[in-house]
Amino acid sequence: MVDSTIVTSEDPALEAVRLTKHFRVRGQGWRIGRSPRLRAVDEVSLALYPGTVTALVGESGSGKSTVARLLARLYRPTSGTIRLHGESVARSRRRSGKRYARSVQLILQDPFSSLNPVHTVRYHLSRPLRIHGFARNREQADQEVAELLAEVRLVPQDQFAEKFPHELSGGQRQRAAIARCLAAQPSVLLADEPVSMLDVSIRLGVLNLLKSLAANRNLAVLYITHDIASARYFASTTLVMYAGMLVEGGPSEDVTQEPAHPYARLLLASAPDPDRFGQAPPIPDRGEPPNLIAPPTGCRFHPRCSQAMSICSQQDPPRAELSDTHWVRCWLYSPNEGTGAQ
Ligand code: SF4
Repeated sequence: MVDSTIVTSEDPALEAVRLTKHFRVRGQGWRIGRSPRLRAVDEVSLALYPGTVTALVGESGSGKSTVARLLARLYRPTSGTIRLHGESVARSRRRSGKRYARSVQLILQDPFSSLNPVHTVRYHLSRPLRIHGFARNREQADQEVAELLAEVRLVPQDQFAEKFPHELSGGQRQRAAIARCLAAQPSVLLADEPVSMLDVSIRLGVLNLLKSLAANRNLAVLYITHDIASARYFASTTLVMYAGMLVEGGPSEDVTQEPAHPYARLLLASAPDPDRFGQAPPIPDRGEPPNLIAPPTGCRFHPRCSQAMSICSQQDPPRAELSDTHWVRCWLYSPNEGTGAQ
């Protein structure tokens, strides 16, 4: 079942079904073929709908950036299916082709490393326009570049077009990187922690830009973040990821106002809150994320969970539906719960 819960009349632009990525761990002491596997992503299913923002939330190392790279076809999945507008995508990157590369664009965390320092903004935007056939000559390219810069609010456009990346602020660089993605006329934007390297004062502006682009261009946006509080403001649907697996999903309002999974509650309790300034968080953190080479059996959160029961370390919790749109994977909400607290 696809773990997206938004109600829409449109079909998903991009879907992942049971997407899995295990990396071979390289190092001395392991014979070829015997090296252990790091289970970065396990059986993740999600759907991204046109005109909406879906947040994928989790702490560092939870696998959310690996999901973005799988969806961008930078990694080859170990198993699972990706569908673009209903069509299955070939597992080989070469076969998945130019159409996919154009339709699904990735915005990286660090805009400085994603732009070539020796080229101007005009060059960065003109190149995809030419490659994908949206500009046939210099004049057309210049006009498109001016429109893209106006759309990401880099004005006056003729000045910004001639700037090099080092002449831009962090927020301006991220806007230029977003404009470059838009030049390919994508249907999906994968934004991997797009504001985490920016000053707090300019984060909201970039998030607002992404939100308005989703609405104005009917884009499906995946917003990857460790900040569950921003997901509530910015995304219509929120998915919570822990140790390579999705553990809760639903409308952002429900997931952030009434989180069901103990991990989602911990994430929310750890988010900055001016009302709690100077106080200890309401839920204490109970340790570190697990080693994904040998993840805990059963529920992967059980070594850190204050509500763990004996079944939690023995069996994977099934998905429980809390409403038509809100679901969770936790034994507390399963008919089999109640085998006794540890
Ligand atoms: Fe905690 Fe058990 Fe729920 Fe996992 S399944 S989050 S260990 S109560």
